[in-house]
Amino acid sequence: MTLSLADWQAKAQALTIEGRAFIHGAYRAAVSGATFECISPVDGCRLGLVASCDLADAELAVQDARKTFESGVWSRLAPVKRKAVMIRFAELIEQHGEELALLETLDMGKPIADALSVDVPGAARAIRWSGEAIDKIYDEVAATPHDELGLVTREAIGVVAAIVPWNFPLLMSCWKLGPALASGNSVILKPSEKSPLTAIRIAQLATEAGIPKGVFNVLPGYGHTVGKALALHMDVDCLVFTGSTKIAKQLMVYAGESNMKRVWLEAGGKSPNIVFADAPDLKAAAEAAASAIAFNQGEVCTAGSRLLVERSIKAQFLPMVIEALKGWKPGNPLDPQTNVGALVDSQQLNTVLSYIEAGHADGAKLVAGGRRTLEETGGVYVEPTIFDGVSNAMRIAREEIFGPVLSVITFEDAEEAVRIANDSPFGLAAAVWTSNLSKAHLTAKALRAGSVWINQYDGGDMTAPFGGFKQSGNGRDKSLHAFDKYTELKATWIKL
Ligand code: NAD
Repeated sequence: MTLSLADWQAKAQALTIEGRAFIHGAYRAAVSGATFECISPVDGCRLGLVASCDLADAELAVQDARKTFESGVWSRLAPVKRKAVMIRFAELIEQHGEELALLETLDMGKPIADALSVDVPGAARAIRWSGEAIDKIYDEVAATPHDELGLVTREAIGVVAAIVPWNFPLLMSCWKLGPALASGNSVILKPSEKSPLTAIRIAQLATEAGIPKGVFNVLPGYGHTVGKALALHMDVDCLVFTGSTKIAKQLMVYAGESNMKRVWLEAGGKSPNIVFADAPDLKAAAEAAASAIAFNQGEVCTAGSRLLVERSIKAQFLPMVIEALKGWKPGNPLDPQTNVGALVDSQQLNTVLSYIEAGHADGAKLVAGGRRTLEETGGVYVEPTIFDGVSNAMRIAREEIFGPVLSVITFEDAEEAVRIANDSPFGLAAAVWTSNLSKAHLTAKALRAGSVWINQYDGGDMTAPFGGFKQSGNGRDKSLHAFDKYTELKATWIKL
C-alpha cells in the first residue's frame, strides 16, 4: 500500500528520534554531555537533540574499535560467517525501510519517494553485495622459483574512520560500511552534523544483525571537533571520506601530520553533460538534463551542472530542457508526489542564492527559476534554475554549487566540447549524447572523469566502481575495487 502525505505526517509525529552516540553496542551521551539541535529543513521544526561528540568520544571509540579488532571476534571470523551477518544487516535495513526513509527526509529534506526508492534499497544493496562478495575473493600465489612459495594475501587494515556528508547520508555510509565491515575491520562512522539520524539508527540494526559490540561505532558531531579528532588520531589506520574537496584536502594534511593513515576521498564535482546535434533522442536528453540538476535538489556530487550543447541545436534544445524542468517542482518532501524537496538547511540555501546572484553579476541569462520558494512552510526551498549564455570561466561554471542551478554552455564541435568539459578542477562524472558510435567512444576516452555515461545520465550499480579523477578524489567506492581501500596487501615468502 502506498502511503499518503497524511500517513507520513502521522508516522513523523509518532517517530522516536535517537540522537546519542553508539559505542560498544550501546547508545550513550557525549562524554562532555554536549548536544546540538537537529532542525528539519522540511518546516523548520526541531526534531531533537543530538550528541555533540569531540576528542574524548573519539578516544573512547577508537580504543574500543582497536580492542575489538585485536580480539578477532569479527576480524578473524570466517568470511562465510561475516557474510551471513552482513546479509542479515541488509535485511534489517529493508525491514526498517519506511522508518529510515522518514528519518532521512525529515533530517535533510529529500522527497520521501526518493528516500524509499533510492536511498534505502541502495544502502541495503551495498551491505548485501559486499557481504556476498567476501567469501568469493581469493588471494594470490606468486610466480616463484621451484623451491620457494610466495603468498600474496589481503588483510583487514584495522580501525577505519568513515566521515560522510549529508546529501545521501545512509547511502554514502553504506558504500563505506559494506566493504569495510565485510573485510573484517572495526569502523567508526562520523555522519554529517546536518544529517546524523539514519547513521545513529542503523548502528542498532547492525548490532541486532550480529555485528559484535565495538565493531561498528557511530559518533555524531561537528567536523572540526570529532571529525578532526578521528582524522588526526594516531590509532586510526584508514580514513575514508565523502564530502567537499576543501575538507578532503584538509584530511590529507591531518593524515600527514599524524600517523600517515591511508586516506581515501570521494569529493566534489562539476560534471559536464554534453549533448551533440546527433543525439539519438533530444527529448530524452532534455529530460535527463533536467533530472540531472533537479534530482535530490541538485545536492548530488555527480549533478549534471554544466550542460554543454552543440550550437546548431541550441535554439531547439534549450526550450525542451526548460519545459522538462517544469516537471520538477519543490513541494512537501513528505508528499509521495513531490520530486524536489527542501535544501538541507538555510546555510545551503544562502550558498545557492549567492551563486544565483553571481550568475546574474557575471552576465549569464536566467531562463528558469532563480528564487527561494515555499517560504511560508518554514522550510528551505529553491526553484530549479537555469542560466543560459554561461562561459566556462564564470563562477557558476567552475565552482560546485550543490543546488539545482544549471549552467548552459554552447560549443562548436567535439574538440571544443572535450576541452570545455575537461577545463575544471573536478573529474567525477560526465555524459555524452550522440548516435555516432565512434564519437561516443572517442569522447568518452578523452573525458577526464571517473564515470562516463553515454546516452543516459547517472547510470551505475554496486557492480561498477565509483569515484573521481583530479580534485574529485582518489580510490573508488562500490564494486570489488572498493575492497582495496579497506585491506593491506601482504607478501609472505616461504623457502621450501
Ligand atoms: P563537507 O566536506 O562540508 O563535510 C563532509 C563531512 O566532513 C561532514 O561529516 C563534516 O562534518 C566533516 N568535516 C568537516 N570539516 C571537517 C574537519 N576539519 N575534519 C574532519 N571532518 C570534517 O561536505 P558536505 O557539505 O557534507 O557534503 C557535500 C559535498 O560532498 C559536496 O562537495 C559533494 O560533491 C560531496 N559528495 C561527494 C560524493 C562522491 O562520491 N564523490 C558523494 C556525495 C557527496
